[in-house]
Amino acid sequence: MFRSFFYSKTNFYLADSSIEFYRHVEEKGIDLGMKWIGYLWLFNEEDFKKTEKILKEMEKHGGKFIVYDKNELKEKMKINVNAAETNEGKIMNLSNIDIGLFVPKAGKIDVEKLVAFYESEFRRINGEIRYGIEAKRLIVKPRKTLEIPGEPYFWQESTVTGVETNRGIIEADKIIIAAGVWSSKLLDPIGIDSHSKPKKRQIFVIKADENKLLQLLKTTGFNKYNCMPFTILPKPRIFVKPDLEEQSFWIGYADDFNRAYKLEEDPQPEENYYRYGIYPVLSLYLPQFQGKYPINAWAGQYAINTLDQQPVIFEVNSLIIVGAASGSGIMKADAIGRIAAALYYGEKEAELFGEKWFKVSDLGIENRRIEREKFVI
Ligand SMILES: Cc1cc2nc3c(=O)[nH]c(=O)nc-3n(C[C@H](O)[C@H](O)[C@H](O)COP(=O)(O)OP(=O)(O)OC[C@H]3O[C@@H](n4cnc5c(N)ncnc54)[C@H](O)[C@@H]3O)c2cc1C
Repeated sequence: MFRSFFYSKTNFYLADSSIEFYRHVEEKGIDLGMKWIGYLWLFNEEDFKKTEKILKEMEKHGGKFIVYDKNELKEKMKINVNAAETNEGKIMNLSNIDIGLFVPKAGKIDVEKLVAFYESEFRRINGEIRYGIEAKRLIVKPRKTLEIPGEPYFWQESTVTGVETNRGIIEADKIIIAAGVWSSKLLDPIGIDSHSKPKKRQIFVIKADENKLLQLLKTTGFNKYNCMPFTILPKPRIFVKPDLEEQSFWIGYADDFNRAYKLEEDPQPEENYYRYGIYPVLSLYLPQFQGKYPINAWAGQYAINTLDQQPVIFEVNSLIIVGAASGSGIMKADAIGRIAAALYYGEKEAELFGEKWFKVSDLGIENRRIEREKFVI
């Protein structure tokens, strides 16, 4: 999913310039599967009031949104706006729904098509791509070898000269590590902090195999596709992503407290996370989901920057580290790539798509300058 709706300028520049670039690529005739279905956040009155001031400021800076009242939401989506008043709702600390905040400059994109586009562009400039090769370790050597056992020593000037892989050694003047949650496996052994921690995220797929669910999927009035928007429930913020082509919904919740930071090679979705976590909440807000269980599920991991939830792009001893996208790396990918490229070429500013300039050191470590996100919901 992507959205160009943030308070923080850091978030906005990264996401908006990337999204505009993806739009531009599509306009040139390359299908990236973009569908501008919009985001719909649901609120109770009290919580909406708390964000109203921020929204007004965002509106002044060009952020566009439409506010729907509960009757319209009930009418359009058959949503239960009084979930908090039921016994189960009280037990689960649910909230009533009074307001829907709809953001049109947002939607979904086909990630495989996006990756295929960058792959073909990279090959076009004679880049070589090799799949199935595992980087086992970074090789650190002194700039001037003295052939002493166990070098380099701390008094020697040393640098990363290459990577040992399962198919031999690759040497280079500069090496970029963009290994997502696995970056720390390569960086920790040489004493470099990836500034990110892995956290499991799960997605459950529910088939729209009944009229009620199909009607929800094909909710009209929000976008030109006559498709339900990407919808985020009020409390807890479970999200429902519609998939019109596959006639299904992707459902998830990004749990925080009590969800371990843990690196897993093959993270698995947990049946009970849906059954006892998501299902009772989802089916109370959206009764269309009553009796519905996943036909498929999968899990991945966010690489979370635990301090400011923004990507890190920095260089240490000829090694460039790009990561910690913190769950929004697809919608910001183009900008992150351009900033990493600028760092590689030793430039102070990166030109983002749309002739916007971004100071490279703002996403670095030493002179990091991030504007905090105030639209946190
Ligand atoms: C469930 C889920 C939903 C998400 N939804 C969204 C969304 O809607 N919108 C959005 O913008 N973002 C979303 N994200 C976040 C997004 O997927 C990430 O931010 C993004 O993929 C990060 O890109 P990356 O290139 O830094 O890392 P990755 O995509 O993790 O890529 C790293 C690559 O490095 C490879 N690698 C790792 N170690 C080695 C090694 N030693 N040798 C060789 N190769 C190696 C890995 O195999 C992998 O291919 C979601 C993430 C999850 C888990």
